[in-house]
Amino acid sequence: MADRNWRTETIAVTAGRDESPGAPMNVPPTFSSTYRDGGTIGYGRYGNPTWSAFEEALGALEGGEAIAFSSGQAATTAVLSGLPAKAAVVAPIDSYLGTRGLLSRLEARGRLRLRLIDVTDTNAVLASFAGADLLWLESPTNPMLGIAELPVILAAAREAGLTSVVDNTFATPLLQRPLTWGASAVVHSATKYLGGHSDLLLGAVITTDVGRRQQLVEQRSNEGSIPGVMEAYLALRGLRTLAVRMAQQARTAAELARRLHGDPRISMARYPGLRSDPHHRRARAQMDGFGAVVAFEVADGGAADRLVSALRLIVPTTSLGGVETTIERRARWSGEERVPAGLLRLSVGLEHVEDLWEDLDQAIAGSRA
Ligand SMILES: *Cc1c(COP(=O)(O)O)cnc(C)c1O
Repeated sequence: MADRNWRTETIAVTAGRDESPGAPMNVPPTFSSTYRDGGTIGYGRYGNPTWSAFEEALGALEGGEAIAFSSGQAATTAVLSGLPAKAAVVAPIDSYLGTRGLLSRLEARGRLRLRLIDVTDTNAVLASFAGADLLWLESPTNPMLGIAELPVILAAAREAGLTSVVDNTFATPLLQRPLTWGASAVVHSATKYLGGHSDLLLGAVITTDVGRRQQLVEQRSNEGSIPGVMEAYLALRGLRTLAVRMAQQARTAAELARRLHGDPRISMARYPGLRSDPHHRRARAQMDGFGAVVAFEVADGGAADRLVSALRLIVPTTSLGGVETTIERRARWSGEERVPAGLLRLSVGLEHVEDLWEDLDQAIAGSRA
């Protein structure tokens, strides 16, 4: 059983293990659609020991009870479907495109009312509370890496009795634990850093509210948005090394951001760890690190596309959070028009920093030819 005083790194390695004598070191994948009568689970849609092991570990890291879902989108959907009809939802203008798409489609169908705000503007966020049923937050935001003043906003939301949810995918519980600041729930795409190896899709909701947890478990059972057994197993395997991955990836990200920022060929580099970043002080005050995503901008969309095609090591792809460094021009997606056309989102992996820099350097040169 987890010692309350253990630090995050130790919890990541130990939580979710079966510590009975003779038990395997890690909870193995249990492939079973049904269970003999007389036990606790019954049918495979209601529970699975491998999901439970992953949930116990993630819950211990975030400081609540975790419920795993088939993807981050399924986790978000589960939270939103618990809302009353025509609920007023406040959400970030700059956020994961999938979340915004989901909210917009629900708004178009008359299921909810949507108000978009700049989450980095604390006064605007606080002013949006009146009449709201749900406050959805993301910080750092995707892809602009804006930082919301989460401790202040979440305390105010709790004071106002407003339900608040934080998508903690970019930061992970290693860098911030929104439940400790008063968030009603945290949502994850475990597809990204928690899994960490670009080999699975998985999501989770974490909450300290027993009633909300029960409601989410029932929803998952009823709607069938259950995680795969192998995915849960692999995600827990990924979680075991999250601390060293994040530390090393963030170190490399900081160095690449520093070099990009100082490079006259780059118009703008954003990374909360850069002293020059507009949200550096805020990030430093409330986070235990700055993460491994860097955004930078070149002249225009054409230059960005040429840069991406000239890369030899860094992989052009959507998604992020793996051990491989990946890059994407976000404005290529419809719905991301607010993002500057020449902005590239770099998810920094575990390759050597000098190999990554050499690749970026030659591709930046090539994009200008
Ligand atoms: C990828 C992502 C999601 C969606 O998760 P899936 O696992 O792809 O369904 C949600 N939020 C953020 C911030 C993401 O990056």
